[in-house]
Amino acid sequence: MPDLSNISNTLDVLKKYDFSFQKKYGQNFLIDSNILDSIIEGADITGEDCVLEIGPGIGTMTQKLCAKARFVIAVEIDKKLIPILNDTLSEYDNKLILNEDILKTDIKDLCERYNAGKPVKIVANLPYYITTPIIMRLFEEHLPIESITVMVQKEVADRMKVGPGTKDYGALSLAVQYYSDPEIVTVVSRNCFIPKPNVDSAVIKLSVFSDNPIKVADEAFMFTLIKAAFNQRRKTLANSLSNAGIAGVTRESVADALDKMELSQTVRGEVLTLEQFARLSDLIKR
Ligand code: SAM
Repeated sequence: MPDLSNISNTLDVLKKYDFSFQKKYGQNFLIDSNILDSIIEGADITGEDCVLEIGPGIGTMTQKLCAKARFVIAVEIDKKLIPILNDTLSEYDNKLILNEDILKTDIKDLCERYNAGKPVKIVANLPYYITTPIIMRLFEEHLPIESITVMVQKEVADRMKVGPGTKDYGALSLAVQYYSDPEIVTVVSRNCFIPKPNVDSAVIKLSVFSDNPIKVADEAFMFTLIKAAFNQRRKTLANSLSNAGIAGVTRESVADALDKMELSQTVRGEVLTLEQFARLSDLIKR
């Protein structure tokens, strides 16, 4: 099978199968071999690794992953792509192609079956319409994952990296930085895809902590507070939290916690660091 990271080979495959792109699935296929190489290199794939690829498309990146990894699990929602993947990946026997929605896939079970429960590496050119739900699910369910190396919109990659006091700082930044160490691998022009998206992209690598450096007594409660704080980011933290209807959170408990942290009662959530959200969560919970 010819290398698909090349526009004419990709067009040949699409034509052979009379494939038409589905906007609802966020289908923008990569056609640049340098970018593909930098994703694979950034993901640091070795012959020992089991890789989970989300949304393989026609298998452009999957071919390269199969050539490097011990085993590749490719989860694709679009059933029209499955016969294409069976064709483009026919020469590899170290792969499993699943026609499923990644938001419903039992990833833990796959890790147990294909990697003896050890952490897998996730690699993907993500469908942009569900980037955040995918990333949040991978983290919140505490799945066995070593790293997540993904293509996302440039603006989303920036949001994952930024700290307090910037307009892009929010619940996604805090979740990514609580669970992992984010690093931008490369910025990618919109010309590297067909069809061409309206925005530029970036490849980001999230190295997942095996032991989170920030300690908090109740992680889920902290993220409930964080989401409430950024749902109404123009309001003071005290107002957003006490109006959110979270069990156990009262105006008094928030005021008391802010006092103990020596923060103003009019502070906004967007200036708090992750450490401060963890402390706030522990103080309110107590
Ligand atoms: N990996 C291919 C590439 O780089 O050329 C395709 C990337 S394209 C941006 C996103 C892929 O994710 C598409 O193949 C799309 O059908 C698939 N997809 C969209 N939603 C999905 C979901 N919920 N679960 C699994 N795959 C999904």
